[in-house]
Amino acid sequence: MSIPNVPAAPAVPQLVDASGTGSEWLARYSDSLMGVFGTPQRVLVRGESCTVWDADGKPYLDLLGGIAVNALGHAHPSVVSAVTAQLNTLGHISNFFTSPPQIALAEKLLELAQAPAGSKVFFTNSGTEAIEAAFKLARRNSTGERTRILAMDHAFHGRTMGALALTAKPAYREPFEPLPSGVAHVPYGDVEALRAAVDGTVAAVFIEPIQGEAGVQVPPAGYLQAAREITRDAGALLVFDEVQTGIGRTGTWFASEGVLPDAMTVAKGLGSGFPIGGLITFGPEVSGLLAPGQHGTTFGGNPIATAAGLATLTEIGSGNLLAGVNTTGEYLRTGVAKVPGVSSVRGRGLLIGIDLEQEIAPAAVAAALDAGFIINATGPATLRLAPPLILTTDQAQSFIDALPAILQAAAATTIGQP
Ligand SMILES: *Cc1c(COP(=O)(O)O)cnc(C)c1O
Repeated sequence: MSIPNVPAAPAVPQLVDASGTGSEWLARYSDSLMGVFGTPQRVLVRGESCTVWDADGKPYLDLLGGIAVNALGHAHPSVVSAVTAQLNTLGHISNFFTSPPQIALAEKLLELAQAPAGSKVFFTNSGTEAIEAAFKLARRNSTGERTRILAMDHAFHGRTMGALALTAKPAYREPFEPLPSGVAHVPYGDVEALRAAVDGTVAAVFIEPIQGEAGVQVPPAGYLQAAREITRDAGALLVFDEVQTGIGRTGTWFASEGVLPDAMTVAKGLGSGFPIGGLITFGPEVSGLLAPGQHGTTFGGNPIATAAGLATLTEIGSGNLLAGVNTTGEYLRTGVAKVPGVSSVRGRGLLIGIDLEQEIAPAAVAAALDAGFIINATGPATLRLAPPLILTTDQAQSFIDALPAILQAAAATTIGQP
C-alpha cells in the first residue's frame, strides 16, 4: 500500500491559513468551539480515498469513515464533480421550489427500498431530523387510545428532543428531561418481549436493523420479519432506522432488505459526506399521514445535497462495489477475530463491532491513531469499524497486522491506572 505522505497543494483558494501545527489548532479550538465533543483526537486537513492526513502531515487509514458516512472515502471524483457542477448550476432554492436532482434522488431511493406505489420521500439534513420526521409521522398515527411509541433498549436515534426521547442511553436523556412523552423501551432482538409490548395503544415501533451505537448488535434471524407481523397485526407503524446501516453499509442496500417497514430513515452514507438524510414512507396511507403544512425544512433536499446523494447511489450501484463490501467485511472480521485479546467480532458488511477481553477500547483508539489507523470505541471493551465501502483487502490486512501491537500498547497504558 503506497500512501503519499505530503498533502497535495489545495486546488481552491484558501480561506484559512492552514499552516498551523496540530497543537496550535487545538488551542484555538478549545477557545472557540463548544466543549460537547471533548478534545478532538487530531486536526485533519486533507483526505483522499481511504486515507486522511493531519495538520502535522501524518497519514491515517480511515476505518471509521466519519462514523459510517464516507461511503466512497474522501474526495471521491464522482461526488466532487457532481457537487461542484450542481453548485455551479443551482445551489439552494427552498422547498417552495423543486429541482431535478431532488426528484431523481427520491425516485432512486424508492426504487432501491423496493417501496410500493404511492410511497414517498421527505429529505432532511441529518439522521436526527429524519427521525424527528418519523416521530411526527408516528404522532399522526396516534388516534384515540393509540398514544404510545416503542423503541428498543440501547437504541440510538439522535440527539434532538424527539429523537432523544427514542434514544435509550440515560446519560444522553436525563440532563434534558422532560422529553416528549409516551415512549417506552423494550429489549432488542426479543420477539416475545415485542409481542407482549405491542397492542392497540402503540402508534409506532422504532427499530435499528442492526444497533450501531450500541456496539454493532445484530438481532437474531427472523426478528425484523416478526416485528413486521406483530406491528401489522396491532395497527402500529414499523419504522426502521437505517441511518447507520443503510446505503450499502452492510453489503446490501439496506440491512432490513426483504422486510418492508411502514417508514425508514436514512442519512449517514447517503451523501458521502455531504449532509443529507431522508424519511421514506411506504404506501399511500402512511405517506398521507403528514398533510401539507404539517412538516417542513429550509435546507432539506436542496439541489447540492441531492446531487451528492445521486452520485453516491450511482457509484455504490456500479461495478461490484456491494459484493466487495461483503468480501472485505468478511475478510476483516475473520482476520480480527484471530488477534489475541479479541473476544468476539460481530457485524455485517463493513459495519463491524469488536469485543475486547479487557476494558481498553478507548486506549486502543489512541494507540491505533499513533499507529496510523482511525477506529472508534462504542464502549469500554468494544471497538467499531465503519470504513469507506471502497476499502481494499490489502488495507484491511494492514489493520489486522497492526492490531496485536495496538492492543498491547493499549493494555500497557490502561492496566494499573485508576
Ligand atoms: C447517527 C444516527 C442517528 C443520528 O444521525 P445524525 O446525522 O447524527 O443526526 C440516528 N439514528 C442512527 C441509527 C444513527 O446511527
